[in-house]
Parts: sequence; structure tokens; C-alpha cells
Amino acid sequence: MTDSLELLALQDLDSNIDALGHRRLRLAERTALKDAETKLLATQRKLATERKRAAAAQAQIEALEHAGQLRDSKLARLEKQLKTVIAPREAEALMHEISLLNAERSASDDEELELLDVVESADNAAGSADTALTGAEAAVEAAKQALAVAESELDREVAALTQSRAELAEHFDEATVTRYDRARHRRDGVAIARIVNGRCGACHLDLSRAFIDKAKHASTSDPVDCEQCGRWLVVVAS
Ligand SMILES: [Zn+2]
Repeated sequence: MTDSLELLALQDLDSNIDALGHRRLRLAERTALKDAETKLLATQRKLATERKRAAAAQAQIEALEHAGQLRDSKLARLEKQLKTVIAPREAEALMHEISLLNAERSASDDEELELLDVVESADNAAGSADTALTGAEAAVEAAKQALAVAESELDREVAALTQSRAELAEHFDEATVTRYDRARHRRDGVAIARIVNGRCGACHLDLSRAFIDKAKHASTSDPVDCEQCGRWLVVVAS
């Protein structure tokens, strides 16, 4: 195996690349975009709801008006009939029916006024939502651009590190890189770690003095494995 210090340098590059990948996912700009999209969706929903509410009330008004026209022609017919009726009982029955229809018309007029209020308030709310929509759409666009800028900055950093990583990897034989990559995959991206303050730099297990002595004297081409996490450990002279 190649010098473990060189492998540690490869590990550092890989860890930095991984960290940038995590940072890319957790960018504040990504959260801001999500928030802006949520707000836009809420505004779109509000607009649709209010338009639907206005249309439903409008349809009810039209139905009332249609029924009103039928009632008015019936009333006209009954009133005409009343003028020709002679029998008092028949006249009484007609008058009763006319008064019922008049009461119905009055109730329908009240209902129509209430519905007109609904149409007005829904139209106003839809108008406000429509105005807010323009701002919400612009906010999403701005957030998308801010995220793209932040992402491309990180991408440039990753590209530079990836280039260095490729150059460094050329120093190792293929078997070593394969072994290192497999170990990295098995152990959350970390194949080799430093011993820091008597602890494994990866899993933070306290290491015995005897173990550290063994690590100090281990050949750089054959590092010791952490007793807890199994990663290769290297003592780095400070
Ligand atoms: Zn460990």
C-alpha cells in the first residue's frame, strides 16, 4: 500500500468534495426558493378559490333571475285573471297565490343582494390575489436565480477539487485506489482518519496508549485499523 499520508490527502480532498455536496443541498437559497414557491402556490390557490366563489355566486344570481322572470310572468297572468274573475272564492284564491308569489319575489331579491355582496367581496379578494401573484412569481424567479448563482459557485469549487483529486489519484496504483474507494463507500465516505487527541478522528473512540504506540510504529504503508469503526488510522506529527 502507498504512503498513508498521501492517502490522507486524498481523503481530505474527498471529504471536502462531499462537504460541498452537502452544502449544495442545504443552501439557504434553496430554502428561500422553496418558501417563495410555497407562497406562489398559496396565492394561485387563493386566486382560484376566489374566482370560483365569485362564479358560483354569479351563477346563483342568474338562476334567481331566471326564476324571477318566470314568476313575474306568472304574476302578470294571475293579476290579469283576477280582473276577470267574478266569484269571490276564486278571487280570494288568486289573491292568496299572488301574495305568496310577491313574498317569494321579495325573499329572492334579498337573497340576490346578499349574493351580489359575495360576488363583490370575492372579486376584490381575487383582484388582490392577482396583484400579489405578479410579486410572488417575480420572487420565485429571483430566488431561482440566486440559487443558480450559489450552486455554480459551489460547482466551481467542486470542479477544482475534483481536478486536484484526479491528479493526486494518479500517484496511487489502481488496486490501492479501488481498496480506498471501497472502504470509503462502506464507512460513510471516510476510509482513513487521523488520530486526534488520543481519539479516532472519525468515530471519536478513545484509543488506548498501547494502541497509539502501535499506530506510531506502524509502517506508513500498513496503517492500523480503528478498533471501533475499522477505519485506517494515522498518527500525524503536529
Ligand atoms: Zn474509529
